[in-house]
Amino acid sequence: SVLSETKPGPRVLAVSNQKGGVGKTTTAINLGTALAAIGEKVLIVDMDPQGNASTGLGVSRETRRVTIYDVVTDGRAVAEAAVETAVPGLHIIPSDPDMSGVEIELSQADRRSFRLRDALLAHGRVGQTQYDYVLIDCPPSLNLLTLNAMAAADAVLVPLQCEFFALEGLTQLMKTIEMVRQSLNPRLEIQGLVLTMYDKRNALSGQVANDVRAHFGDKVYDAVIPRNVRVSEAPSFGKPALIYDLKCAGSQAYLKLAREVVKRERSRRLAAA
Ligand code: ADP
Ligand code: MG
Repeated sequence: SVLSETKPGPRVLAVSNQKGGVGKTTTAINLGTALAAIGEKVLIVDMDPQGNASTGLGVSRETRRVTIYDVVTDGRAVAEAAVETAVPGLHIIPSDPDMSGVEIELSQADRRSFRLRDALLAHGRVGQTQYDYVLIDCPPSLNLLTLNAMAAADAVLVPLQCEFFALEGLTQLMKTIEMVRQSLNPRLEIQGLVLTMYDKRNALSGQVANDVRAHFGDKVYDAVIPRNVRVSEAPSFGKPALIYDLKCAGSQAYLKLAREVVKRERSRRLAAA
């Protein structure tokens, strides 16, 4: 039937952790690239005013005409704001250096926490490109932008840096997710946790990984992202690690993660059908 041939809506994943420097942006860029490399259509939404995902994907400030700021404050369409990247099948809605105005501008607005959700839903029906995945790169704080991300998301994908305070930051994130479920988005799930910057020579890395697995079980992806200098160099060339150096251990780990994400998504869809 016509219905069964219709592509399902995109799976919207908020890449989130209130701790800074844990690998959110690196994961959004490289998981997005890896998903596109295995044939998925992907949109990255850069919700961080720092704009690291935009810069890291080679989108210069001059080419950011319509930004995420315009989408959430002005109701500009996703299709107007999304720009192509050098990676086929990967688009990005760039961030805006002046996102500070969002809180004030939306303080009295209708559905102020649902601006991104409304924009994505509208696009699902009328846009030209039907995305399979939307990855939202969240800022490292709990503000209106993060709430917009979590209200729009089907699930949260949590990067966890393999260091001592990793679990402490998680407690805070779990509270936030619970709060969002109760107020904005009851269907918000946890897609999975990915261990980042893993250093096999450091005993602490292994210990943190074990603790996280003991706590979250199979919510933790098998793919572990190693600490890898090629991964950290790539953004300064405006390229994802997978383009900068496909063979490096970091790129290969992100490919493995992408396959796992797709596999989980397929099982979830089958279970829901
Ligand atoms: P967040 O978005 O959570 O603040 P980033 O993705 O910007 O974190 O990562 C923080 C820093 O760590 C950046 O300088 C980034 O290049 C570096 N980094 C992230 N992942 C890796 C990795 N696997 N190996 C080496 N450096 C990494
Ligand atoms: Mg970031």
